[in-house]
Amino acid sequence: MIGKPLKVMIVGAGTGGLCLAQGLKLDNVGVEVFERDYSPTDRLQGYRLSIDAAGGKALRSCLPGGLFENLVDSSAKPSQRVTFLDHRMNRLLAIDFPQSDRKGIDTELPVSRIALRRILLEGLGPVIHFGKKFVAFEDAPDGAVTACFEDGSTATGDVLVGADGAGSHLRTQLLPAARRVETGILAISGKFRLGDEAREAPPREIFRGPTLILGPKGCFLFASAVEYGKRAYQASTRPDKGKVDPSVHTSVLYDRDEYVMWGFSARREKFDLPANLEAVDGEELKESVAALMHDWHPALRSLVDTAECSTINAFPVKTSVPIPPWKTRNVTLLGDALHNMTPFRGIGANTALRDAAALRRALIRVDRGENELIPTLAAYERDMIEYGFRAVRTSLKEMERLHSDGILTRAFTKIFFRTIDLIPPLKVAFHRVGK
Ligand SMILES: Cc1cc2nc3c(=O)[nH]c(=O)nc-3n(C[C@H](O)[C@H](O)[C@H](O)COP(=O)(O)OP(=O)(O)OC[C@H]3O[C@@H](n4cnc5c(N)ncnc54)[C@H](O)[C@@H]3O)c2cc1C
Repeated sequence: MIGKPLKVMIVGAGTGGLCLAQGLKLDNVGVEVFERDYSPTDRLQGYRLSIDAAGGKALRSCLPGGLFENLVDSSAKPSQRVTFLDHRMNRLLAIDFPQSDRKGIDTELPVSRIALRRILLEGLGPVIHFGKKFVAFEDAPDGAVTACFEDGSTATGDVLVGADGAGSHLRTQLLPAARRVETGILAISGKFRLGDEAREAPPREIFRGPTLILGPKGCFLFASAVEYGKRAYQASTRPDKGKVDPSVHTSVLYDRDEYVMWGFSARREKFDLPANLEAVDGEELKESVAALMHDWHPALRSLVDTAECSTINAFPVKTSVPIPPWKTRNVTLLGDALHNMTPFRGIGANTALRDAAALRRALIRVDRGENELIPTLAAYERDMIEYGFRAVRTSLKEMERLHSDGILTRAFTKIFFRTIDLIPPLKVAFHRVGK
């Protein structure tokens, strides 16, 4: 189909789906997004995502003037370094980030998931349909495709994109053989607000950036502070004011809570917890983590102790199983819907954003009549499968390293980190692996 403007349908108003919608709208490609949630803040948990240089580049290319700057203004204080400690708080490795200015091109931007979604929704207006739970797709006349929703409604277009996250319904129909499996690791996370008192106790490292703690017996703790600083937001003094798209509400800042968040993980059987995690409350989850940390440094134990019970959640860590390319049709996937990965490299959202930018470039060429739809989608899928599953494998390998149980393997991991710590070029290479 060359020469006819495209109508693109996206299932899922998450990180990747919204970035793609913004990019297509920017280039006047017809697009609609269908989201199962009933409002922008349904179900969303307030944890922060770290947008790295690749994710930032994708966002910059897809967002209209002013919106990317709004995201930068809404981000928390950038991380200055990532630190690895042992459970007695001895340093294993620390990697300083080259940029800690929010506006720097390579700066890692910590953004609240709620703020990110609100910003990515700005200016999309009638493009978004909330309360539309996708249930199936079917072929329509003239090479089109129809998406069917739980409320009985349908929508028809030229391309259907599944951006419906890790539990993707669309993937289940498109690729029934694709699997997402449990890794055997259970993660328990929590957070507490940073009032004046709460700022004194935590280890100083977590205020400089993500801190990863290797405990004994395959236990692992991640902690990071989310702070915004005293900087006041002055929309009127922004240097780029003239470039702002008038349909974008650039003066709004979302979700400015300052807090410490942590995640403790280990093999499922290490926790003294019943099989049905749904029935376990925050207090019991906290106790099960505390029991595994009895010989840890008191400052680390107090991170868990201080968490508000209502914020504590447990989730079995899952990963997708890589699959080879399939026969391309007018239904495709992006982000977690295909290459869902463990959170231990912090690259899931960044990879979804990379997909969104790549798919946007591909669809724009088709919309302009420069390329045919199916070969263009096939080329997008080939690349995305390659780098997406590479990220899956990297995240899985990192998970295995951080949870290795044997005394020898653990000792080797610590020696490995301490060696890298002594050789600056190795630090840079280590930080880049898999990105
Ligand atoms: C605790 C934690 C911390 C993380 N930290 C980071 C980090 O620092 N950096 C990073 O890069 N990644 C991080 N990730 C991973 C990141 O959150 C995901 O990889 C990313 O959100 C995937 O984006 P997506 O667009 O593919 O899916 P999502 O953002 O999950 O969006 C999917 C959307 O589809 C909707 N949907 C689902 N089913 C349907 C349906 N049937 N019909 C209609 N709509 C539907 C959902 O409601 C949702 O809005 C983290 C994950 C976790 C759990």
